[in-house]
Amino acid sequence: MPTTIVLRHITKIFETPSEAEQPASESAISNIVNALRIGSDASARTPGHLPEELGRQRAVDDVSLTVYPGETLGILGPSGCGKTTLLRIVAGLLRPTRGEVLYDGQPLEDIPPAERGIGMVFQNYALYPHLPSVDNIGFFLKLRKREQEIPQRVREISRLMRIDLKPLLSRKPPTLSGGEQQRVAIARCLARDPRVFLFDEPFSNLDAKLRTDTRVELKRLLQRYRITTIYVTHDQTEAIALADRIAIMREGRLVQIGTFEQLYNAPVNAFVAGFFGKPAMNLFPGFAHHGTWEGATFSYGPIRSDLNEDTPLILGVRPEHFVLDNTGNITAIVELIEPIYGERIQLVYTRIGSHRAILRLPLRHHVQIGEQLRLSIATDQVHLFDQESGKRLA
Ligand code: ATP
Repeated sequence: MPTTIVLRHITKIFETPSEAEQPASESAISNIVNALRIGSDASARTPGHLPEELGRQRAVDDVSLTVYPGETLGILGPSGCGKTTLLRIVAGLLRPTRGEVLYDGQPLEDIPPAERGIGMVFQNYALYPHLPSVDNIGFFLKLRKREQEIPQRVREISRLMRIDLKPLLSRKPPTLSGGEQQRVAIARCLARDPRVFLFDEPFSNLDAKLRTDTRVELKRLLQRYRITTIYVTHDQTEAIALADRIAIMREGRLVQIGTFEQLYNAPVNAFVAGFFGKPAMNLFPGFAHHGTWEGATFSYGPIRSDLNEDTPLILGVRPEHFVLDNTGNITAIVELIEPIYGERIQLVYTRIGSHRAILRLPLRHHVQIGEQLRLSIATDQVHLFDQESGKRLA
């Protein structure tokens, strides 16, 4: 039976005066306002550092979650949000300031390191440079006096990963390319029969093609072995491709955890809405007015009727939910066009009043830079957020 990992109230505070000199983050409200102003580059919206009591850095803040047996959980968030710190705590490499990690109900601290069975692939593969690949792969078996299993293991893993490790086996890591080192690192990780897999941006050194290929191999491997896995990344495509569920972190906190559909269709707040999805949701500030949402240049309604008049609201619209419509009440000016031929669509970067908005339109519509488009929003395809707290309203 695969392992269950439970994190209870994990908090990590680093005692580093120098870190505290970095600028404190803005308040939640000004973050949202900023996000709206900046436009669609979600990664630029979130400051990488957390507000903290003098001289201390709260890298992880009260994170509780469960990784179910055999599940792959992706941890996604902007740079500096605490992903690596959290993973290092799960690996037992860092002690949390508060909280605990349980493997199958047993506190990690009570399990001797040799029995934890953690297979890790981090950004730096940390292969042993002086050992040929074959010895790197078999290192842990050798350590445990199970050398006779090595040849069969290597055969099995090569087959599974659909790569011929043979030409690589006799070579030492410094003579291998980044992609080859990556495969050896994953093979080594597998060869030790891990109870859990922990990955931290393992493909960051690979080029786009190798990244995709290796991702497919890893996916195959995770499906075959069903080993409980945590996969840290800031690359949404990777998280979506590999993970059964995704946890979104921001400023040390767990903001939302769920399947792709849950996060995409019902983001808990404007941050998740403006972060998750490629491109992310368009967000427009406005107010409740006579049962509609009223923005600077257009209105939408009806919306839920229980909101007080003039409540500040953010209207969220996914790029695919704008529709070209001559009778529509939205005017967008085209600034940039990015065709995606494989999907027969184009991303159209526009300006609606003073706000940037991205539309996802079929490629057959010929649009031109500078053109004014008339748009409407597909029925019921909007999201509403409270502007002050950022929380989802509908
Ligand atoms: P990235 O995606 O850029 O790798 P991350 O989400 O993995 O970022 P962490 O590396 O976990 O973020 O760092 C979270 C915060 O804790 C950052 O603000 C970082 O500066 C701080 N931090 C991390 N390690 C230490 C340390 N050893 N001492 C002090 N502060 C630290």
